[in-house]
Amino acid sequence: MAKKPAAQDAAPEVRYGEAEGGGCDHPGCGNQEAYRCLYRDRRAVDCAWVACRDHLKVVDGRAYCIRHASIVEVLIMAARQGNALLPPDLDDRCASLVLAVATDLDEPVLERLVRWGDANTGIINDPAIRYSRPNRLQHDPGHWERAWALATKTGILLRVAVRVEDSRPETVILTGGGTRLVELVPPWIQRRLIGGVGLGSQSQLVERLAFQHQLLQALDAYVEKYGIIYPGHGMPASV
Ligand SMILES: [Zn+2]
Ligand SMILES: [Zn+2]
Repeated sequence: MAKKPAAQDAAPEVRYGEAEGGGCDHPGCGNQEAYRCLYRDRRAVDCAWVACRDHLKVVDGRAYCIRHASIVEVLIMAARQGNALLPPDLDDRCASLVLAVATDLDEPVLERLVRWGDANTGIINDPAIRYSRPNRLQHDPGHWERAWALATKTGILLRVAVRVEDSRPETVILTGGGTRLVELVPPWIQRRLIGGVGLGSQSQLVERLAFQHQLLQALDAYVEKYGIIYPGHGMPASV
């Protein structure tokens, strides 16, 4: 009696990133079925590239853009030789600005979400810095974002996010629920834009804390006015 093929003959399962609308980013490719590159750098910044199966490369069962596939191959090779390396940083100004501001905000935002929540709420704190492609229908430009949320079992009560949009790489936007609470160019970037001199490390810290305070004040004012119940319609239960 003929045996069925052994399990090793089956194609290994490949993990693709999230499916995205808007098609493959590869120049000249019209494929609409496309997925995010799975690369995440050592700071939890996710690659923004979206491509079809033909323009992604699978390394170790995971699909990456061509550039990151070769980086991941190097990392795997290094790990096999006993040198574990961290995934190198994505080179993107907007993502780096979101990271810098979100790092400063992480603790005070979490402290507030704990305070604003109760026994029935939980906190969603995903350190990922993710890119959302432009959404013309919703007039939403492409942007990088880091989000926190207060949620119950049935959905999000309050979502707080730091975002930087492609079209305005100097401006930090803080959102609460679906509202833009405040849009500010951080003082260290203002200085760079006007070609000013650098500050000492002490003054830099003061400047960063003052900027952080401005953002948090806007968040506090919003929650004081509207409470933590998201006033919109159909906010999905995820960040
Ligand atoms: Zn393609
Ligand atoms: Zn990539």
